[in-house]
Amino acid sequence: MSSGRHLPREYRYGKTEQENRMQQAFAAMQLECMRDRIVCFMCGRHFKNPTPDTYPHNCMLCPANFDKPGMYCMPDLMLFNGGTLACVFVNGLVHDKDRVRRKDIRIKSTLQTFGYVVFIVKNETIDNSPVSALRGLAYAIWQASANEGLYHLMHRGEKELPGFAQQ
Ligand SMILES: [Zn+2]
Repeated sequence: MSSGRHLPREYRYGKTEQENRMQQAFAAMQLECMRDRIVCFMCGRHFKNPTPDTYPHNCMLCPANFDKPGMYCMPDLMLFNGGTLACVFVNGLVHDKDRVRRKDIRIKSTLQTFGYVVFIVKNETIDNSPVSALRGLAYAIWQASANEGLYHLMHRGEKELPGFAQQ
């Protein structure tokens, strides 16, 4: 989960190997998957980062300037499955830290409020999965992004359910 709040604006965030592998898995399954999207938390809409690899200064779709923390987020991957928009976050170990976890929960619930379906994939899951398993995971995420029953089945037993969009 990327956010610029603790970093200088010009900080260039990297795309991780795990994000790339997950993107490749969606592509291999011919599932449309987008990078470099920004979700504005003022208007709830999303747009392509006009300057990929740097943090945005403002929303392209509403008058919001991103001059305070928490005004937007940058999902690692976004999926468009029919009418459903899903955000996929590929998370490393830093997301297990309490402070980051609290921030993540806030981001997830804001995304849900705007109707996005949220998925979290851990780096270690990707690291430990052969290509075929990752393709299966990509397909499962795609299916679950437009099927609430499947979504809940997929997350059954998890302490912090990422959350299906509130319709
Ligand atoms: Zn906006």
